[in-house]
Amino acid sequence: MPSLAILHEGAARGGPAPGSHQARQEGDPRRRDPRRRLAARALPLHPRCPRAFAPCGFEASELVDALEARWTGLGEEAFSSERILVGRLLPHGRTLIVEPGRHGDPEEVVQLLARLREEGGPPFGTIQSITAEHGVVVVELPPGRDPEPVAVDGRWVACHLYPAGGSGREDHS
Ligand code: SF4
Repeated sequence: MPSLAILHEGAARGGPAPGSHQARQEGDPRRRDPRRRLAARALPLHPRCPRAFAPCGFEASELVDALEARWTGLGEEAFSSERILVGRLLPHGRTLIVEPGRHGDPEEVVQLLARLREEGGPPFGTIQSITAEHGVVVVELPPGRDPEPVAVDGRWVACHLYPAGGSGREDHS
């Protein structure tokens, strides 16, 4: 009989609970270099569970982080060609409003985000919808769901990675 302790995989590993996303200061992305911002965040106060995938759910602020992390890893030319399309990134809950950059238009931003969704990987692969409306692009992320506690080695674990081989593990988008 498992103990009554209900563990969360992320908590057991020192990570956050699902959906417990740290409110982050969101300045004007046009005034900051995402590469420097990433470097400054080398020691995050409240890192997201690194194993989070589609069933866990993502927030729009994590989409912003993922975009900036992507740009950090691109070469100068590729970075500039994407960054120039994107203006302000305005996350609110599971909705991200993207203002086109001075040299971008909404349709180009839609195409960029659709390509990232196609390439998959969290959180891009979880994007539910991308629409251009009223001069901006609206990106919607689906809600996560609470994991069902399962017995693992005498303890209750509430994590979509369990049970091993379960449906949660098969959906890594
Ligand atoms: S439920 Fe998701 S976010 Fe939470 S620990 Fe498991 S994989 Fe990570």
